[in-house]
Amino acid sequence: MNTVGILVVGNEILDGIVLDTNSQWIINRLKPLGFQVHETITVRDNVQEIGDALNRLLKDGCNLVFTTGGLGPTHDDMTLQGVAHGLKLPLELDQASLDIVTRQYKMLHERGIIESGEITDSRRKMAILPRGSKPLDNRVGGAPGVILEAKGSTIICLPGVPLELKWIFDDQVTPILKSMMREVYAERIVALPLRDESTLAPIIDQVMAEAPGVYVKSLVKPYGEEGIRLWVSSLGEDQGEVEAKVSKAVDRLVELTREKLPNG
Ligand code: ATP
Repeated sequence: MNTVGILVVGNEILDGIVLDTNSQWIINRLKPLGFQVHETITVRDNVQEIGDALNRLLKDGCNLVFTTGGLGPTHDDMTLQGVAHGLKLPLELDQASLDIVTRQYKMLHERGIIESGEITDSRRKMAILPRGSKPLDNRVGGAPGVILEAKGSTIICLPGVPLELKWIFDDQVTPILKSMMREVYAERIVALPLRDESTLAPIIDQVMAEAPGVYVKSLVKPYGEEGIRLWVSSLGEDQGEVEAKVSKAVDRLVELTREKLPNG
């Protein structure tokens, strides 16, 4: 099974200025591909902390790690330095990456978005990658994504800007993930007419015991609000099989809840 870790990098996240929507977006893209996230870590823009966090994810068994943020041209964009530091790899100018950066800045200049398309040192920095990395094309911004195989794991570094992250993920990363896919996934959200989560707990336990491989999680709402939503999901080998499992579990949840209701 693929074990996925996400490393979110950025002071702005830990200072409460930007809400980390990138990891949630990545998680939701990974689910239908059968990849389940095991762990996420958020760290500041600090080379040592980025390297340590990456090593912790690898030590925890993640064989696929995404990083988000810190790929840009400024001094505080240090994800690739952190990755190189953590993996004890040298940083080297990568020509394929420099070609992407050059093309993007030329395009942005021609469109009048930036004043100059010149490849300055700070722009060149985005093409300096840990040894053995390959760039992932970015056609919506300046910084290419990066993919690297190390310590038996695949590490994929994506920019922090959501538009860029999404483009690179959908265009460049998804085909790679499809070739790594080992499991398929199904999920449904069901709303049940119960107000008290504790009433539901034995029902959830019963359904999970009856349906091995199905995971049921209540999406809690404050007391007094109408109904409780349950998220029912399953991972497996065969799409039809996991969908059938989820749908059967949903039917059982509805049935058992009905029995609990006063007029049930
Ligand atoms: P670029 O290459 O475009 O400069 P970057 O990789 O350097 O991107 P950051 O400088 O880390 O990205 O972040 C740029 C902006 O992207 C942040 O100011 C923030 O608005 C947004 N951003 C960063 N991380 C996240 C995140 N985890 N979730 C949502 N938005 C984020």
